[in-house]
This record gives sequence, C-alpha cells and structure tokens, in this order.
Amino acid sequence: VVGVTAYGLDVGATKTLGVVVADDGTVLASVRQPTDPGPRGVLATAGRVVDQLRRESGAVPHGPVGVGVPGLVVGGAMRHAVNLEVGGDALRLQSLLSEHLGHEVLLENDSNVAALGAAQLIGASDLAYLSIGTGLSAGLVLDGRLRRGGLGAAGEIGHIPVDPAGEPCSCGQRGCLETTASGAALARMWPTTNGLPVAQDVFARAAEGDAKAAAVRAVFADGVAAAARLLMLSVDVECVVLGGGVAALGEPLRQAVQGALDAQSDSSPFLASLDLAERVRVLDSGHPVAAIGAAQLGTLGG
Ligand SMILES: [Zn+2]
Repeated sequence: VVGVTAYGLDVGATKTLGVVVADDGTVLASVRQPTDPGPRGVLATAGRVVDQLRRESGAVPHGPVGVGVPGLVVGGAMRHAVNLEVGGDALRLQSLLSEHLGHEVLLENDSNVAALGAAQLIGASDLAYLSIGTGLSAGLVLDGRLRRGGLGAAGEIGHIPVDPAGEPCSCGQRGCLETTASGAALARMWPTTNGLPVAQDVFARAAEGDAKAAAVRAVFADGVAAAARLLMLSVDVECVVLGGGVAALGEPLRQAVQGALDAQSDSSPFLASLDLAERVRVLDSGHPVAAIGAAQLGTLGG
C-alpha cells in the first residue's frame, strides 16, 4: 500500500520534527527528536529522524527530502542561523545532508516551509505566516507561490527598525520589530522564575488583572500587530497566520493582536477599510506545518 510519499523535516534549535506525508496529504508518520548542537549535530539528528521515519512508515521518500532550517537559505546554503551555531559564513547544508542521508535533499527557510504548510492546511493560496518564536520572521505564499527573494531574505520583517529609541537588536540595529514582538522580547520585558513559558505567564497574569503584565502584553501585541499590518499593506495577503512557539497561546494571542489592530484603525478610515483585524488567524500549535510544508518542497519543482 506504499504510494507516493514525501518526507519533510523541520530543524529547530532545540528539536527536530519529521513527517512522512502521503500524496493525499495524510500524515503517515511523525517523529520528534532533540536537535544535537552545531552543524554536525544537525546532520546526526536529521539522520536519526529519517531512519525513524523509514521504520515507522515503511515507506521510502519519493523525490527529495525537504528540510526547513532557521536562517537565510540560498542555493542550498544557509547563513545567520545563530541558534544552530551557523553565522555569516554560508554552510552548504543541503549537499552535506544529501551526502549524510544518501538521498537528495532540498533546503529551505523554516518560516517559508511553514507558510507552505499553513497554506495547505487552511486552503489558502495567498498568505503570510508570521513566526513568533525566539525571534520574528515571516514566510510569504503569494498567488500560490513561495516568495524567497534573491538572497532568501523575503519576509525577514523582524529586522525592520520601527523605533529609533528602541532596544538594541541581535542583528546590530536598534528598535527592530523583533525587539518587542518575539519570545526573546517577552523574556526581556518579563523576567520570570516560576517555570512557566514566559508568554503563558504574561498572558495569564494580565488576564488576572496584573497591570505590569498587561502593559507588557500591550507592547508585545502592538509589535505583532505592526508586523501583521506591515505584511498586509506591503503585499496585501488575504490573511496573516500567527505561528511559532509563542502562538501556542492560541485565542488570547489572536484577541490581543486584533485589539491592537482595531485600536490602530480607530483613527484611520483608510486602515479601517482594510479589515486588518479580521484577516489575522492563529494556528493550532499542535499542527506540524513547517515539517508538512517541507515535505511539499520536492513536489514544487523549485
Ligand atoms: Zn534586528
């Protein structure tokens, strides 16, 4: 009963998810392993995940194995994936992985593959996937096609500076969107020691009426709203899908961002006419959109 199956991997700093997807979109196997550190660790982890997927699905990959990674990806090489210990020098991970796995690999930015997976999940051909994790970045599917850009930087809106007096950013600029609208920004604004994920703690306390937590939530929600507004005004995508680790907040996150967009639209008939708030969605955090999108890479024909 083995039909055409595609393998997809989502390599994150702490964990790697892998899926085997049938040609009708059914997920046949799903695997999660901790990511070993450094480029060698990524190779070893990917090898383990693919072996386990083979065992669990009993299916071999049809076409290339798709792999999503953080950082800028061009021509099978990646740069600036700081969490994977890859800096500004290009790492030719696609060919290294192909050698290591003994199978052709296609490498792509993780937000980009998540955008592909989200488009499939919600049946949209035009969307932005806004990944709110440690950092902030977006993937763009425009008219059914993934927008990569010449240097793989399309959608890297986390590093658009919006506040000249803002916090220094990891990228070397100041006041980037990422300095208010990211998990790292929440951790900076809300040092917590109670063991809860910081975003959960901020939103829970704010809901209980804690004024300081509500203020942090407002700064964060304004930042995410600014990012969503930027995406809708620059490329007018049908919807902006909130994803990434922080989006595990679910509905309270969507409501906070919608509230911020509504407030911004209050004084602007122009913004109000664009229905920005209604175009923001949040994904069920249990859905491995990035790995599923990575599995689609082999069928896209580049
Ligand atoms: Zn930056």
